[in-house]
Amino acid sequence: MIMEKMKSLVEKLNKYAYEYYVLDNPTVSDGEYDRLYDELLKLERETGIVLDNSPTKRVGGEPISEFSKHEHINKLYSLDKGVTIDEVRAFLARVTKLSGKNPEYTVEFKYDGLTICLTYENGKFVRATTRGNGTVGEDVTAQVLTIKTFPLTINYKGTCEIQGEAVIKLSTLKKYNETAVEPLKNARNAVAGAIRNLDPKETEKRKPEILFYNVNYLSEGEFKTQKEHFDFLRENGFKVYDFLEVASSVEEIEKILKIIEEKRKSIDYLTDGAVIKVNDISLRETLGFTEKFPRWALAYKFEAEEVTTTVLDVLWQVGRTGKLTPLGIVEPVDLGGATVKKATLNNYGDILRKNVKIGSRVLIRRSNDVIPEILGSTEIPSTATDVVKPTVCPYCNSLLVEDGANIFCVNPDCKPRVVGALTHFASKDAMNVEGFSEMTASLLFDEFNVKKFSDLYEIEKDQLLTLEGFKDKKSKNIIDALKNSKKTNLASFIYALGIDGIGKKTAKDLVKQFKSIDGIKNATLLELSAVRDIGDITANSVYEYFSNEENVREIDKLISLGVAFESEKTVDGGILQGQKFVLTGTLPTLKRSEASKIIESLGGEVMSSVSKLTTIVLAGEEAGSKLDKAKALGIKIIDENEFKNMIK
Ligand code: NAD
Repeated sequence: MIMEKMKSLVEKLNKYAYEYYVLDNPTVSDGEYDRLYDELLKLERETGIVLDNSPTKRVGGEPISEFSKHEHINKLYSLDKGVTIDEVRAFLARVTKLSGKNPEYTVEFKYDGLTICLTYENGKFVRATTRGNGTVGEDVTAQVLTIKTFPLTINYKGTCEIQGEAVIKLSTLKKYNETAVEPLKNARNAVAGAIRNLDPKETEKRKPEILFYNVNYLSEGEFKTQKEHFDFLRENGFKVYDFLEVASSVEEIEKILKIIEEKRKSIDYLTDGAVIKVNDISLRETLGFTEKFPRWALAYKFEAEEVTTTVLDVLWQVGRTGKLTPLGIVEPVDLGGATVKKATLNNYGDILRKNVKIGSRVLIRRSNDVIPEILGSTEIPSTATDVVKPTVCPYCNSLLVEDGANIFCVNPDCKPRVVGALTHFASKDAMNVEGFSEMTASLLFDEFNVKKFSDLYEIEKDQLLTLEGFKDKKSKNIIDALKNSKKTNLASFIYALGIDGIGKKTAKDLVKQFKSIDGIKNATLLELSAVRDIGDITANSVYEYFSNEENVREIDKLISLGVAFESEKTVDGGILQGQKFVLTGTLPTLKRSEASKIIESLGGEVMSSVSKLTTIVLAGEEAGSKLDKAKALGIKIIDENEFKNMIK
């Protein structure tokens, strides 16, 4: 019975490993593979039996025949893994038991890509190979030569083999997928498919890089520590990710793992964990290797961010612009501690490109706490059916209109459109009507036929009192909040209108350029497209919006109902002119919105995320990944006191 179970696990795992290592096209997530692998490992330990073809005995996959083969001078190993701090503790205990010492450890990022081994002879690059089965790899020299992050000549004149991880920046992958006929499911498979591709032009198109972390063979000389590996790599011109921490206890390691876990959220590479290594190289020699991995290193893997599940249905949601967005209803599955039942797709074109069908297995990825995204199908059983493209609106039954890859409901009275527009109008960064929710908008639509923004300002308290759940206090609060919202600024008002393509920043750009509502209203298409950061499509959308008489009448009505704009005090040539700020964390006395206002009134700009363009980060308590990113990019970081001095 147990033997049967083991045989079936080995068969399954070998099939998955073949799809993953050889075809670069896995059909299950890494988490599922790891779960089955651990189940097999447990049975092998219990029975003491390891089948000949067990994946626990081998590294990676066999090289494919289309590539010529290269035998690595030193074997390239896989890594033993742990997912809990207790497993890290057990690893440290094993090292101590085997070596009789309490050594120092290094902790570094574990990039999730494809292992690459570069051979140099007499200071010259001669060959690039994949890890393959650890002993023999595939010669991918032509493909790797399209990459620019490694040197063709180095100072070291002996023979050496250098190990790194080929990766594709997450931002590069995103850009590639925007136009790709068939989007790539994730950065790991994207890079493996790019390098293990017989056509180097395809490699170049996907723009891979290599991050180096190890010297696997050196004909002359030796290193004493892991840090010396990094120093050698840097001195010889290899790209090394700038993070290597040293620790001597499990507590210290735990602290570093926490830092890595936080930092990984803002770095542009896919990482799946951290690698803990014994720092002393001579001690590594004492500890040695098993058939599959070094006894002196451990991959600490983070919770899975991707998982496979089955699509049960696809629903179509209508947004405030009338655009229909498909929502995948999936078989409930655990992802990072939460049960996922829904996953997003962008549009109908996306469904076709990703080959998603009802009944197909799909890979989904968690993305910063919003609903996970469907990355693509991994398996399509014969019973799967096509997702039907809707022809009428699922809410109001009116005929739909197609525009490129998107489908629109053009009925301006369609409930989800109206409710979406009203909710956006009332939101914090728009008119800031406190306490107004989507539910309020929905009730007002159903009960009082509230459709236009101006209808909101004509609602009476007595009407609200008739609604379910609206007592005196709540009704009064909403009426007061609506009244207070009338005193606004022009940029928030423009943003509140919900014009296609106009976010907070573009609204501000328009106000900066045209100064008044009449100025924006009367701007010509040419003048609009001349505004910095406004493209032709957005310019056109603004132009069309204000060419529509109904919209202009509605704006006039809002103004006649009391909507008024505080004069914008944005000063050209103010003391913060040219400074691009990012605010993060809680400031001791100022609210972030107050600080933003001050910055903008002094000519500075406030950005939502840290990039190379950011000039100053104003950080308060519990600043998170934005602060890490600022540090990594070497951007000036100030606290509230310094900020106050700056604006004195
Ligand atoms: P691994 O990827 O877990 O760890 C070893 C590799 O880590 C090394 O070869 C190296 O390339 C890389 N690495 C990245 N940064 C490093 C650093 N700083 N220092 C040292 N090494 C670093 O092991 P593996 O054997 O390559 O792959 C096994 C894993 O692959 C499984 O645990 C599973 O998650 C996944 N897998 C998935 C499927 C599937 O069907 N989804 C199939 C097979 C394997």
